Amino acid sequence: MIKSEETNSYEVIRSKRKTSAIQVKKDGGVVVRCPLWMTDREIRRFVAEHREWIARHQREVLERLEKRTVYTKEQVKEFRQHARWMLAQKTWLWAQKMQVTYGKLTIRQQATRWGSCSAKGNLNFNWKLVLVPQDLVDYVVVHELAHRREMNHSPKFWKIVEEQLPDYRERRRRLREYETEIEIAEE
Ligand SMILES: [Zn+2]
Repeated sequence: MIKSEETNSYEVIRSKRKTSAIQVKKDGGVVVRCPLWMTDREIRRFVAEHREWIARHQREVLERLEKRTVYTKEQVKEFRQHARWMLAQKTWLWAQKMQVTYGKLTIRQQATRWGSCSAKGNLNFNWKLVLVPQDLVDYVVVHELAHRREMNHSPKFWKIVEEQLPDYRERRRRLREYETEIEIAEE
């Protein structure tokens, strides 16, 4: 990446690439990546040629942002408490069934993860799990507990998950649909 400049409507990144490409970011911003030799005028033309494509993708971004749910601090506090209670129960039950142990259980707000498991067996869960269907929460719990036997995502790991939840692939796919929809207010 050599040069980056903001213009009114798009950002230009020139680099040693051979072809040009346009990207519409998650916030609707437009980025043009192009070769070093391309002039501003050529870039303008390139963008103009793709105006419809850009508009279509920006509309999609807008629709996605409108669908998002934003929660207040008070609501988040309640959700967190509920999450702690629900996940403590579920983790205990699944751990019995899977015959694994675990350490501390923490509820936090992770931007990108539903849960994680440390090498010591401490479990972290995202409070946003209270906002998704129960069967998907079960998947997250089983997934993290399966890491108590396999600290990786090897076929062996997935086999452990599948033993408990034969339809885990479907649950995993459905869980992904919630990832961009659930947002909270700034703290
Ligand atoms: Zn994992």
